[in-house]
Amino acid sequence: MKGIFAVLLCGASCVCQGQTYPDSVMMERIYATSFVDGEAYKNLRYLTKEIGHRIAGSPQAGEAVQWSRSLMQELPFDRVYLQDVKVPYWERGAKEEAFILPTREPLKVLALGGSVATPAGGLEAEVIEVELLSELRRYGDAVAGKIVFVNKPWDESIVETGVAYGLNSSQRSRGPAEAAKLGAVAYLFRSLSSSPDDDFPHTGGTRYVKGIDSIPALAISAVAANRLSEVLKENPKTRIHIKNASRWNGMVDTHNVIAEWTGSEKPDEIITIGGHIDSWDVGEGAHDNGTGTMGTLDAIRTLMKLGYKPKHTIRLVFYMNEENGVHGATRYGEAARDKKERLVAAIESDAGGFAPRGFDIKSSAEKVAWIQQHWKPLFEQKFWVSRFFAGSPGVDSGVWGQHFPNTMMFNFRPDPHRYFDIHHTDKDVFEAVDRRELQSGVAALASLLYLLDQQIDEIGQK
Ligand SMILES: [Zn+2]
Repeated sequence: MKGIFAVLLCGASCVCQGQTYPDSVMMERIYATSFVDGEAYKNLRYLTKEIGHRIAGSPQAGEAVQWSRSLMQELPFDRVYLQDVKVPYWERGAKEEAFILPTREPLKVLALGGSVATPAGGLEAEVIEVELLSELRRYGDAVAGKIVFVNKPWDESIVETGVAYGLNSSQRSRGPAEAAKLGAVAYLFRSLSSSPDDDFPHTGGTRYVKGIDSIPALAISAVAANRLSEVLKENPKTRIHIKNASRWNGMVDTHNVIAEWTGSEKPDEIITIGGHIDSWDVGEGAHDNGTGTMGTLDAIRTLMKLGYKPKHTIRLVFYMNEENGVHGATRYGEAARDKKERLVAAIESDAGGFAPRGFDIKSSAEKVAWIQQHWKPLFEQKFWVSRFFAGSPGVDSGVWGQHFPNTMMFNFRPDPHRYFDIHHTDKDVFEAVDRRELQSGVAALASLLYLLDQQIDEIGQK
């Protein structure tokens, strides 16, 4: 123990030299304030338990908009407003069902977001199982009239769960159209879950292609996928029954929720921070993305509580409709482009509320190296946050960033191990979030916001 303590002391004393000393003290105050007085967890409880899940276009999403605005209005922001957005409203309808015939052994399924319905009484068909959509070609005409079942297990050998997710997610979005092209009557997709024993189906977006039939598309739990595969090996002619009542309800008027804290030195230069306020229509949208919205709001509140005065304008944005259309971020980007705003930096939180690990940075190699040299030591020695690498921005910033290619973007990275166990399921509830982990993330976000506001002009010279 003694040896480790000595190393830590040495590290701390190095950080304390010259310019960085006040920053480290400020960060200690930020962390202490977040742990002792943080309100992200309390606000998350309201969002998840009183409002609940909130798919874009739904009454709950509308309620989340109004409530978020009132939360922002309670703080000393200079401006709080709603930005109009039109979103497509997809509704799940009555609970889906699926079972093996003739035994009626049930299979846990959940319609993929955007799916069309089956006929009212459901449909029955034989099943063609593949791991990859590309294997379907081999079956040719035999696909017609069948249910295509893509059963590719999660690659557990991959440490970075987001990478494992990305390996399979395009089969979720492309699947229904590819299967329909060959005459399939429905699409069944093994859930993107990092847990091999998971019997919860995971929803997520899918899409159809103009000119190709839209067929019902459902996610099946990992456990049910294994079971169905076993049954099909015994009897490849096995038929299953599926029923789904989801539908599109056209476009709905809704909003992004925005608050601004005006900068004292460069008010026209804006640092955007936020995450998406919508969620899927299962669970409570706690980690995805109640923690991202309540966390970024609380990061700003923490700085306000400490009496901080920003040099640049800090703009909090709760984007609508990240999950099934990204219309909110699209609208934010177009409006900012038309107004020729100067969006100098952006932070997004949309990877859960687990213990913070760092930030992916979209910027030049020189700027990333500068951050690694100057900021990483501040985070890693006392606060256990050490991951600062070049990487992709979050989905929402990535979309509006198309109009702002030079904006430096930070994607908040909490610990990734448990996220894809609960992602887009009934398991994503308030109880899955730990207060201390969440407030630690709030402090990491507030610290980054503070450092950016203080030093972005210095990095800009690099
Ligand atoms: Zn999300």
